[in-house]
Amino acid sequence: MSQPIRVLIAKAGLDGHDRGALVIAQGLRDQGMEVIYTGLRQTPEQIVTTAIQEDVACIGLSSLSGAHLELFPEVIRLLKEQQADDILVIGGGVIPESDVAILEAEGVAKVFTPGTTIEEVAEFIRANVHLRALDESALAASPARTIDHVGVAVKSIAEVLPFYTRQLGLSVTHEEVVADQGVRVVFVSAANANIELLEPVDETGTMAKFIAKHGPGVHHVAYAVDDIHQAIAQAKAAGMRVLDESPRRGAHGKWVAFLHPKDTFGVLTEFCQQPQAGDRE
Ligand code: ZN
Repeated sequence: MSQPIRVLIAKAGLDGHDRGALVIAQGLRDQGMEVIYTGLRQTPEQIVTTAIQEDVACIGLSSLSGAHLELFPEVIRLLKEQQADDILVIGGGVIPESDVAILEAEGVAKVFTPGTTIEEVAEFIRANVHLRALDESALAASPARTIDHVGVAVKSIAEVLPFYTRQLGLSVTHEEVVADQGVRVVFVSAANANIELLEPVDETGTMAKFIAKHGPGVHHVAYAVDDIHQAIAQAKAAGMRVLDESPRRGAHGKWVAFLHPKDTFGVLTEFCQQPQAGDRE
């Protein structure tokens, strides 16, 4: 679902050798990244301009000229000046060990010395690029959604409740039996979030089966939505399996629908919508 990471490999300074840079560029392409190569003898200004125009998430600076102590920090400074310092900057080339710490203190995220494998470089980039680059569409989307609650499967609410109330200091805010799900639920709440404790009351229900298979523990995460029908339609359009074709009543009389955990990276995901005044029980 995410876009490939865009990387600019930039040859800073006056040296005329780019074999190493080309090897890195090709290696990162083989790792699934989109790589742009600047060509030789780039000034820091040219590098920063290209990086911004090409909307890259990472700049890999290479220098063999010995001028890295001036060139690399200048790139960092120009990125800040252009308010583009969310771009990850890494460096490599022939760089003495004693200069590595200086460059990293100047804001180069990591300096790779000869002998580093391309996998290590790619892994570092993946772990450190700004989230923006990974899925811009997600960050461009509407305001943050609210997590309504996290569901926790328990064998016995009575057994776990003191942990949530006395140890963690949460308050009991709601209790009910959701008969068609075969569960008794108790909501314990912090100032800004709720935990839904789910205890099976029907030994053949899904919660009993879940505990038999996985043991007690985190069961699902529920997101508040304004329009559950729309949320279901969007999930289906994205190819996800929806366990509830039409929303059903959950705790608090809310409309709920679940997405298949195999399509949601292993986390059973619930949409829930506040009931409207006109909704019938
Ligand atoms: Zn729930």
